Amino acid sequence: MQVPAGTFRSAVRQSTAQFSRWSTCQFQQPQQHIHAKHSRAVTKGSHKAFMPVQSSRWYSSHSHKADEAIKNARNIGIIAHIDAGKTTTTERMLHYAGFTRRIGDVDSGDTIMDYMKQERERGITITSAAITFGWKDHRINLIDTPGHVDFTIEVERSIRVLDGAVTILDAVAGVEAQTETVWQQAARQGIPRIAFVNKMDRAGAGFGRTVREMRTRLGCRPVVLQIPLMESLQGTNDTQFNGVVDVLTMEVLRWDSDSKGAKLVRLPLDSTYPDQEVYQEAVKARVALVEQISALDENIIELFLTLEDHMAIEAKDLQAAIRRLTLSSTIVPVLCGASFRNIGVQPLMDSVVDYLPSPEERPAALGRMTDGKTVEIGSGGPKERLCALAFKVVHDARRGPMVFVRVYAGQLNERAQLWNSSTHTKERANKLLQMYAMDVEEIPHITKGNIGVVLGLKDTRTGDTLLDAHDPRKGLALSGIKVPSPVFFASIEPMSTSDEKPVEEAIKALIREDPSLGMRVDEETGQTLLGGMGELHLEVAKERLVSDFKVKAEMGRMRISFKETMRGAGVVSEVPAWEYDREILGKRGRAKVGVTVERLEKFEDQGEENSPESSNSSSMIESRKKNKKGSTDANLHMGPEEYDGNEIIVSLAEQSPSTDEAGALVAAEKAAASGIVIPTGSTDLPIPVLRTSIKNGILSALSRGPLLGYAQTHLKVRLTDLHLFGGESTPAAISNCVAAAVTEAIRLGGNPSTGDSENNSVLLEPIMDVRVEVAEKDVGTVIGDISGTRRGRVLSLGQDDDSATHQDEDEIEFQLYAPPDSTYTGSGSANSPGGSSSSTSAVGTMSDRRSIRAQVPLSSMLGYDAALRALTGGTGKFAMEVIGYGEMDFDRQRDLIKEMRGG
Ligand code: GDP
Ligand code: MG
Repeated sequence: MQVPAGTFRSAVRQSTAQFSRWSTCQFQQPQQHIHAKHSRAVTKGSHKAFMPVQSSRWYSSHSHKADEAIKNARNIGIIAHIDAGKTTTTERMLHYAGFTRRIGDVDSGDTIMDYMKQERERGITITSAAITFGWKDHRINLIDTPGHVDFTIEVERSIRVLDGAVTILDAVAGVEAQTETVWQQAARQGIPRIAFVNKMDRAGAGFGRTVREMRTRLGCRPVVLQIPLMESLQGTNDTQFNGVVDVLTMEVLRWDSDSKGAKLVRLPLDSTYPDQEVYQEAVKARVALVEQISALDENIIELFLTLEDHMAIEAKDLQAAIRRLTLSSTIVPVLCGASFRNIGVQPLMDSVVDYLPSPEERPAALGRMTDGKTVEIGSGGPKERLCALAFKVVHDARRGPMVFVRVYAGQLNERAQLWNSSTHTKERANKLLQMYAMDVEEIPHITKGNIGVVLGLKDTRTGDTLLDAHDPRKGLALSGIKVPSPVFFASIEPMSTSDEKPVEEAIKALIREDPSLGMRVDEETGQTLLGGMGELHLEVAKERLVSDFKVKAEMGRMRISFKETMRGAGVVSEVPAWEYDREILGKRGRAKVGVTVERLEKFEDQGEENSPESSNSSSMIESRKKNKKGSTDANLHMGPEEYDGNEIIVSLAEQSPSTDEAGALVAAEKAAASGIVIPTGSTDLPIPVLRTSIKNGILSALSRGPLLGYAQTHLKVRLTDLHLFGGESTPAAISNCVAAAVTEAIRLGGNPSTGDSENNSVLLEPIMDVRVEVAEKDVGTVIGDISGTRRGRVLSLGQDDDSATHQDEDEIEFQLYAPPDSTYTGSGSANSPGGSSSSTSAVGTMSDRRSIRAQVPLSSMLGYDAALRALTGGTGKFAMEVIGYGEMDFDRQRDLIKEMRGG
């Protein structure tokens, strides 16, 4: 089943059906290959093309070999719109590298990369698995990225550890809505990219058109390194895609179909070539290439001035220049092929080696010390201490948690004592693993620049930094992974009381793997709520609870997660003295506090900083807060430990025991500088205990807003006064007192005359960045729908013409070259595969497509898939990602409150 991007279609209606299907279906054992010991296929290497990766070679601790190994390593990922052929292409790569005996097929659900059961059933890639294979003396660590919007965190976390990316485009669909989304994600991280225009065998394939769209829609400089070899089908007017022309070497490349494309033949292309049209176009492409590169590269312009012949510049010189320009993200080399037909994959693999960077060609990673200072990681030579990032945690039934790490400095050794500087816990690496397609290999170390799996870690979560246990830099943290807070939630009901504990444990394990999931307990109902990024995300999580963790639980209706805050930026509400005096478990509990609560100004969004629209002040967004602490902690969970866009200030100081005049003066000065003074004798509780009690009180008040009980955000809470009454001021009494004071301050909302929470508080709702792609004739209808019914704001209306959405603002001259597209109608390939053919061919003439970008509340996007199809006769497409929370207008807030309170 193919799930189109950006689909929330079954949010409510279909969920019941889904659950009943789950409860009746049989769950199989986890997939074999993950658990396989050394597989014969790999270790014996019966395959001709097989090139074993010798562990001694890659993992040698001899430094010169390690240096060589790092030069020959490529950490890459494939980014694409769903259905572009990411999985199919990956399968071919693994096969040609000799790591699988037969080619997997996404349509029959047996591919290696899509190893999770859920992925197989749904035909989409959910979990990014890192897989290693060798190619031409290089070691490629391929990190698969999912294509569904609910799993953007997976894309984000993969991109965080990638050094380069391959973008796969569907030659029929061209640049698609989600291509833009993932492209921007990679651009934000400055990841060099190469592009592969796939599905050239399909009717309506347009290589030239796709290249032009890369220029206009992605704003990059696409440089054509191959042109498709289209040949006439005998007796018809049609053509067929039979291979590619290598513009650098001026050769024709053809693949042998009997060997499933494993054999490829290169023939020189010159003026004697029988098909003169092919030769003429190749010459044009070569001339364009040399012109483009010499405009950007000193070396090539010099060569050109000497040789004065576009054809005479050697392929290796061009290649070196293309490498330099790709590494600096100046250009994007473009190749083409048809992975399903086994055409074009090996040159793509060559290009990964030739044009994408090794780990040491990337800028050094940055880490942050406890004092806020930024340090470069990995630039310090061989003696540098270990620093690694856990970028993924997978729960494996047999091995326990498998933590995927990338080592940025030093070397991670088997059995090493480690320090997790994010959780401040000691860890021990029991075993280290390297993941191959069919095989898992135990390895003695993971060297700098490499990716591997650590077993035996107990508390490490996605985004955590791992250091040597003896490293004095205890708080050093690599900049974490941007984790969005959940926008959907559903209750998880254990089947019986004996299931409660296992359910909670299982959810915690899931959150460790996927920090974009969250859990909290609703105080009023006592229900456990699971939060996530979309309905598919939650469905998959629930399915995994049942199948992987074997717990008995049901999931309730999915709902959007709103937030609450005080109305009006800058509003300050003060409760100067709040007294608490109550019996707690038969004992008197007392405390008196003062607090202020301030509504924070608009936040800047970390994720959008490179986007041209982010500076747009008319934006309806108040984006997520930048996490100043440099850790992802604050955004990790929905539970009471998070700050969730709030700031808390609790500063306490001890009274100086000195009683003389001078001593009292010192104490007063100290108090002014560092906070509230706790008079000696007023309590036996140590300051850290007091602080924790106060913080817990504040967090408890922030966890529920006055309107509908949603978590509060954008608030700054400060303790202004504290009176303690000896033994009666227990930690519980202090927490309760603080919680009540903060709740009261929020209720008043700086407007004590009314104290009406509906006026003083405001609901915030998740806002999506939406890209819609429609035919010209539907633009009016679609925009009307977005800005009317859906309360959206249209930001831009791109047009596929050269003057439209260029982000290319510098002065570098770039002359686009794109070959003409053949008039192939495809009558010769009635059996063309591809479940997506219906969704793309229907767009018809691609030239009149328009790309609309808008900000729309998530609640208005439910069911948009079906709505867009209805509005556009099935031709429209869209993709979206969460960008933050925006305030609701008053009328809508009132209606929603009425609806939710059932009154
Ligand atoms: P992913 O979603 O990007 O991983 O895409 P898949 O690899 O799952 O491919 C999506 C669909 O496109 C599948 O039905 C594939 O068989 C089909 N497909 C992939 N590559 C090609 C190709 O080169 N030509 C054609 N005609 N179909 C392809
Ligand atoms: Mg896939």
